[in-house]
Amino acid sequence: MISVMEVYQLLPKTNCKKCGLPTCMAFAVELLGKRKAIEDCTPLVEEAKYEKKLEGLRELLAPILSADATETGMVIHKEKCYGCGNCVVACPVNVANDPKGTAIGRGPVSGKAILVVEDGVVKCVNVDECRRFGPEKVLCNACIATCPSKAIEFI
Ligand code: SF4
Ligand code: SF4
Ligand code: SF4
Repeated sequence: MISVMEVYQLLPKTNCKKCGLPTCMAFAVELLGKRKAIEDCTPLVEEAKYEKKLEGLRELLAPILSADATETGMVIHKEKCYGCGNCVVACPVNVANDPKGTAIGRGPVSGKAILVVEDGVVKCVNVDECRRFGPEKVLCNACIATCPSKAIEFI
């Protein structure tokens, strides 16, 4: 997990407000939540003295900004997943939303399952149903905890 403090350390820390937020700390929170982009901090991208920080921040946030990461920060390492379905059956939302399908090891029935196995690899659909989604999120870890090959990660 990347912490807000790690992001903050790589910002200019001047609280100049050019990003539209009152402090660099507030910007770090928004950046981590993908509600702001690195480029919204114009001093960081425009001023040469912050070059090293910018480089470090891009490196730090690369996994989050990659196309594979969902809004919850879930990354499925497809090469490690062998489609066993443990995570699919364990996900409490699959159990609640799709009791006649994914919850009992079958294909999705309700259309509201989060984790489904397709072509032998797990896939995250309906991400907004995940307990880690949005401001009320809870740190559910049923999918990670039940995966024998560490194919699921939250960043
Ligand atoms: S624009 Fe950058 S330096 Fe200024 S407050 Fe926002 S994050 Fe901090
Ligand atoms: S974090 Fe919890 S709710 Fe979200 S996909 Fe994993 S098991 Fe399901
Ligand atoms: S992510 Fe892990 S638990 Fe889920 S299907 Fe793939 S190997 Fe199995």
